[in-house]
Amino acid sequence: MVHYDVLVVGGGAAGFFTAINLANFNPELKIAILERGKTVLSKVKISGGGRCNVTHAEFIPKDLTRNYPRGEKELLGPFHHFMTGDTIGWFAERGVE
Ligand SMILES: Cc1cc2nc3c(=O)[nH]c(=O)nc-3n(C[C@H](O)[C@H](O)[C@H](O)COP(=O)(O)OP(=O)(O)OC[C@H]3O[C@@H](n4cnc5c(N)ncnc54)[C@H](O)[C@@H]3O)c2cc1C
Repeated sequence: MVHYDVLVVGGGAAGFFTAINLANFNPELKIAILERGKTVLSKVKISGGGRCNVTHAEFIPKDLTRNYPRGEKELLGPFHHFMTGDTIGWFAERGVE
């Protein structure tokens, strides 16, 4: 039987991003993604009709929150930890300009 340290439920964008970052920061962890569907990342594949909008061109947390009317307050804190520049950098590190 295989033992895992972390099980991520859901093989969508959030699940993969979480699993990849967990593995980067904690290479010793054994991580598995559990997906109930037949394929993973199926919504990512249809996002933007194959030309997915990855982020907004906003680099100030308060300005970026205004794009999320239902989460303006809640997102201000997280955007001080991970912002547009981090998103661009994250993809660039993986060869996606
Ligand atoms: C037509 C369309 C166009 C879009 N265009 C864009 C775009 O251009 N830019 C952009 O940023 N976003 C876009 N989006 C939104 C983007 O696709 C979603 O915000 C993103 O995919 C959400 O990711 P998620 O991981 O939160 O959820 P999901 O992608 O829904 O992933 C959740 C996964 O968990 C699985 N799951 C659920 N319950 C269980 C369970 N109990 N056990 C195991 N697995 C489970 C599901 O099967 C699914 O695979 C678009 C969405 C659509 C539909």
